[in-house]
Amino acid sequence: MNVTREQALEKLEAIVGAGHVLTDEQSLRMGDSHNRGYAKAFGLYQTPLPLAIVNAYSTDQVSAVLAYCNQNQIHVIPRTGATGGEGLLEVICENTIILDGSNMNQILKIDTDNMMVTCQCGTPLQEIEDQVNKLGLTTGHSPQSRPMADMGGLVATRSIGQFSTYYGAIEDLLCGLEAVTPDGRVIRIRNVPRRSAGPDLRHIFMGSEGALGFITEVTVKLFPYYPDNMWMGGYIMKNMKTGFEALRKIITSGYKPSVVRLYDKPDMDYNFGSVTLKDEEAFMFFVAEGPGALSKATGDAIHKIALEFGGEYIGTRAVEHWMIHRNDLCDQFRGTAREEKYRQTHTLYSTTEISASWTDIVKIYDDVMKNVPPQIENLVMLGGHVSHSYINGTNIYFVYQLKMNSPETADEEHTKMVHAICNEVLKYETGGCVHHHGMGKKRVPLAWKEHGTSYPLMIDLKHMMDPNNIMKPGTLVMLKDMKKE
Ligand SMILES: Cc1cc2nc3c(=O)[nH]c(=O)nc-3n(C[C@H](O)[C@H](O)[C@H](O)COP(=O)(O)OP(=O)(O)OC[C@H]3O[C@@H](n4cnc5c(N)ncnc54)[C@H](O)[C@@H]3O)c2cc1C
Repeated sequence: MNVTREQALEKLEAIVGAGHVLTDEQSLRMGDSHNRGYAKAFGLYQTPLPLAIVNAYSTDQVSAVLAYCNQNQIHVIPRTGATGGEGLLEVICENTIILDGSNMNQILKIDTDNMMVTCQCGTPLQEIEDQVNKLGLTTGHSPQSRPMADMGGLVATRSIGQFSTYYGAIEDLLCGLEAVTPDGRVIRIRNVPRRSAGPDLRHIFMGSEGALGFITEVTVKLFPYYPDNMWMGGYIMKNMKTGFEALRKIITSGYKPSVVRLYDKPDMDYNFGSVTLKDEEAFMFFVAEGPGALSKATGDAIHKIALEFGGEYIGTRAVEHWMIHRNDLCDQFRGTAREEKYRQTHTLYSTTEISASWTDIVKIYDDVMKNVPPQIENLVMLGGHVSHSYINGTNIYFVYQLKMNSPETADEEHTKMVHAICNEVLKYETGGCVHHHGMGKKRVPLAWKEHGTSYPLMIDLKHMMDPNNIMKPGTLVMLKDMKKE
């Protein structure tokens, strides 16, 4: 940093206004939100405190803050809803500010003729969904964190929602955006339905995890909303393998239900408990949406295929239970419930989401279930579910509980588990070790394996966009790899 702490704070306050630069200890300690939450529950703060939380209210302010930080070697971590895990918001360098865009929270335009909504980066997705539902529309984007996450973060992490198989993920939904580059330039990518004008520049910002610029405004698609037409069906499958086979058949036959899920017993028991499964059994369920004739046709076809693969139809009750309780986990992130649980149980629950082709996913599921437990002595529970499917493959959310040895070693213990799973996945040609939460600090050490021979391009991109490495150093690209250049 080329200026003193006092000079930096004074200048930042001059840009965003009095009262909008927070330096009290509680705000700084919670700057990275629930990241390293287990250690924090025991009063342990293991990462450097940021210099300040800087609340921005306009694109001009974001631009001025970034230009100043770039000139003076002050690191910047963008933040909106603060729900990101994986060490996404973690501070790893001294002289870092958290630039918070959650007050840039206006819906700017709902264009019902062209089915798009434009909003500022800090607009809560739930707020948009509530507004457009009143018009008979939906964003189609429904991550489990919908009640808490904001649009900037949802784009920056390449997020995906629970109804993705019908509506798509954020890369299918994002039309255009406004962003500020690390040196303070404001750029806009217009809302063109499709273009063939070179590489798609939206993708520089989607999944950038805040390391390549600050997203200030986004436009996403809207869809007609037919909640009354939803078709639901739940099936008990003999095992996960027959479940994967049935899912593959349904999706590769061309059907597009919105919700496509397959749970093994440990995951079902831990997270919902609404279906009683025998040891090897799995619970597979679907929601089909759209105009009535479409959802009915989709539902009828799913039903036929599920039975062909030995599925035992158990009606809709367990699916309705899931629909009602699917976002309950968010309650644990509000208030102090999660920390209380850590202190009482000394147990951490977490997830690691991966993807692979239809043929590799079955092998990956078996490998993880067999090979990971012997590597993790404090593993209490391991299971998984499928939640997002594609014509060429699907994902698994591995879920697990660890009995923690100590707050001091908690992050290391958690990371060991994440890497144990990811290393099993990366043995396979089509295995991707990060399906939708982002690399964060947790998985960036695996970036070279994930990207292989294309990893140097990621390093080049970071250098090109942010030559002074002020934005989120150690994100997308390991710090040591940047230094080597
Ligand atoms: C209970 C729970 C359930 C979840 N379920 C899902 C799920 O179903 N699907 C899913 O995809 N994710 C899920 N997540 C992860 C998380 O909600 C998403 O990653 C979400 O996109 C983060 O949005 P946010 O506004 O909270 O971003 P933040 O947490 O504030 O930031 C996330 C990342 O984006 C960057 N960032 C934030 N704002 C900007 C900006 N304006 N410009 C540039 N970079 C920015 C940050 O630096 C950080 O790297 C879940 C998280 C929780 C806690």
